[in-house]
Amino acid sequence: MSHHTPQPNGTPTLPGFIEERTEGVAGPPAMLLRVWCRWCVRWHTHGYTGTKVGDTTDRAPHCYAPDSEYETGYDIWVSGTPFAEVRKTMRSATAAQARAIREGRITEAVQNLRDQPGPFE
Ligand SMILES: [Zn+2]
Repeated sequence: MSHHTPQPNGTPTLPGFIEERTEGVAGPPAMLLRVWCRWCVRWHTHGYTGTKVGDTTDRAPHCYAPDSEYETGYDIWVSGTPFAEVRKTMRSATAAQARAIREGRITEAVQNLRDQPGPFE
């Protein structure tokens, strides 16, 4: 079964990318798991708790998009591609677009951002 196959309970599986964040972090890097959210049009941030590459872990995101279909949670398939390699491949919402999404106004530009393919694992 591919990791893209939806679970029988309908929980989506999304790729997650490991980020070792050093910026603004004293001591060892913060280990994060970053997941692209097409509803918020931004990268969600989760703590990375050591799930092996290729394995799956579940999380409950807090989307700011009122129409998000991820509010009940998702499974994250941990990619071996570092977050640093994929972060720039996706175009995030601007501050004004994020405000519109939060207010439930899905403009054509926002819809186009939501329809971006990827991220590629
Ligand atoms: Zn979201």
